[in-house]
Parts: sequence; C-alpha cells; structure tokens
Amino acid sequence: MTDSAAMRVESLYLHVPFCAQKCAYCAFYSEPSSGDLINRYVAALIRELELVAHDLQPRTIFFGGGTPSLLNLRQWEQILRALERLNLLGAEEFTVECNPATVSPDKAKRLRDFGVNRISMGVQSLDEQLLERLGRIHTREMVFQSFDILRRAGFDNLNLDLMFAIPGQTLEIWRATLAEALALGSEHLSTYEVIYEDDTPLFAQLQAGEFDVDEDLACAMYEELVQRATGAGFRQYEVANFARNKTLNPQLSTLNLPRHACRHNVNYWRGGSFYGLGPSATSYVRGVRTKNWSNTQLYCEQLEKGKRAIESREELPPLKRAGETAAFGLRMNAGWPFAEFRRATHFDLRDEWPAEMNQLVERGWASRDAQQFRLTPQGLRFADSAAELFLR
Ligand code: SF4
Repeated sequence: MTDSAAMRVESLYLHVPFCAQKCAYCAFYSEPSSGDLINRYVAALIRELELVAHDLQPRTIFFGGGTPSLLNLRQWEQILRALERLNLLGAEEFTVECNPATVSPDKAKRLRDFGVNRISMGVQSLDEQLLERLGRIHTREMVFQSFDILRRAGFDNLNLDLMFAIPGQTLEIWRATLAEALALGSEHLSTYEVIYEDDTPLFAQLQAGEFDVDEDLACAMYEELVQRATGAGFRQYEVANFARNKTLNPQLSTLNLPRHACRHNVNYWRGGSFYGLGPSATSYVRGVRTKNWSNTQLYCEQLEKGKRAIESREELPPLKRAGETAAFGLRMNAGWPFAEFRRATHFDLRDEWPAEMNQLVERGWASRDAQQFRLTPQGLRFADSAAELFLR
C-alpha cells in the first residue's frame, strides 16, 4: 500500500455502529439498532463517502462494526450504489463482517453482486453455553447454516473469528470448537483472547470475584491454537491470524504471506494510510490521525450540515509515527526486513532502536540477522509488551 501524497488512499474502512444487543465483553462503539436512526446513518455515511471519494482508490474495503449484516437489503443497496456512483467499487479485497444470526441468501447474493468477495463471520465459540455467557445472539447451528449460505452465494474467501480464555471455557471446550471450526474449511481464521474492558458486564463480573483469570490456561489455549491451525494447513502470519492457502500472495511476497492473508489488516500493520468512515472510526492519512465522534446522533448532525464528523486530529511527529509502525509490524511473523522498514518510514530500525532490539533478542523474544528483525514464537505471544519498547 502506498503512503505517497501523490497517490490516492487505497484502504477504506466503514463502521456500522449497530448491534441487535450488546455482548458481555464488548467495548466497541455500537448501540441497539432502530430503523429511523439506521436510515439516517446510511444517508450520513454516503455523505461522508462523497466528501473523501476524490482522495480514494480502494484496493481494500472493510465494513466492520457493530454488526454490518444488520443493515437490510435496501440500506445495503443504497450504500453499494453510492460506492458505485463514486467509482469506489472494484477493490481486490472487499470484506463485510457478518453475525451468523443475520445472514440470508438474498443479502449474501446482493453483496456478492456488488463485488464483496470476503466475509468475516463472528463465530466466537461453538459451545452453546459460552455463546450465551458472551451475550451473543446466534446459536452454533446458525454458524453452520450461514457458512453454507455464504458458500452457496459464491464466497470463496471466508474468515471465522474465534475467542479463547472465555470464563468457563476449558481446554477441552476450546479444542472441540477449534476442531469443528477447522473442519468447516474457511480460508482464514482470526482469534482473540478475551480482554476485560472497563464498563463491560464481563469486567464487572471479574471485579465481583465471579471468576478468576487463568493466564496459564490462556497460554495453553494459544499454543493449542497455533499447533492445530498449522496442523490443519493454515499458516500463521500474525499473532492471532492464520490463512489456509500456502500459496504466497505474489503482491505481498516480500512478507512471505499466504494468499488469503487479510490485505486490509496487513495495510494497518505495515503503517499504510487508510480512511475510516462512520461513528467512532479512525483514519490515518499521510501521517495525520483523525477520529470521528463516537455518537451516531452527533455524527449524523455533522454530516447533515455537510461537514465531516471529526472529534480529534493529531499530526504525528515522523519518529513517533515510525515507532508505531515498528510496533504494529512486529505483530506479523514476517517482522521487519530492515530495507522495508526504511522504505515505509524513512528511518532505520538499527539506528533508532538498537538497545530495544538487543533486549528482546536477549530475552529470547526476537531474532535478528543482517536483513531483518522479527519476534520468535515466544515473543509473538507477548507481542504487546514487546511492541511497547518501540513507542516513544
Ligand atoms: S456484535 Fe460485535 S460489536 Fe456488537 S456488541 Fe457484540 S462484540 Fe460488540
């Protein structure tokens, strides 16, 4: 992806801030859906698209949320037709996040007709009790049905999101979920360790002593995940992301990425520019980070006045920006080839962070040779702590 001022931005994220109900662990900005507000949001989102379209030529588009699949057919048509009118269709990778409870054959077909070629499904678990505990609206049966519907609609690039270290989840339950999920045969797998965010019901339960956090169990689950996913033919290319196809993506060959790696996320991890539209979405365009208001009402009001709904704007000093890029990129198994880091940031890792790199190598968390620096499997498990050393 490019970061040159002369070229248009190639990555577009659109946030759909509505959910049927709030999950117990979720701190993302989303709210219960209501027909009128969704219609108003759709019009505002299209207005925001019109305001930035001149600077966009998307190679990747990602609709996330919230629950994008909650939008009805008519609302989807409006957004997709706007993308068409603004010449923003035709991305190489066009992803929509779906909740298994809200997938229908009509919607799947319509999305496919407009060039959506990747669906990311929020499965989280295949254990009924855990799904209930998490406050998910779908059942395990819906996962299998939706997977079938999507395949029949012609989607040949499907991602499943799974969570581990859920309170009450044993290693056996995790193994069973993994086995069933891998057997489905998706092209991609994204996993998340439960984190306890302030102001979520799960955090309140933890504070009330209803369960304990078991770090050793979480580590065992992560190891099980890496082992089983790679055993099933997936290739790990980021701390928590696996793609099944071992054929390398020719356009991303310097990073040794599998063909079905999520290109949209790879752009984030490599420090590329992107526009993020919708309430609470963040953009990062040529070194300037902006964030939209996390309030759908306010977001709509601003756009109805013809203004972007930006709450904050931060221009990062180049070295700080390079440090963030280093930190994000280390999440990938490919780490940083020194030449590529210099191309992306105009700084040399070896000049700016020699002590930090040594520290990680001595701890066994990283390896380094003449060409590159990257985290070891053990370091990847603690990628967040490793990354902190590069943030200044
Ligand atoms: S569906 Fe996703 S965004 Fe919505 S509440 Fe659940 S976890 Fe959060």
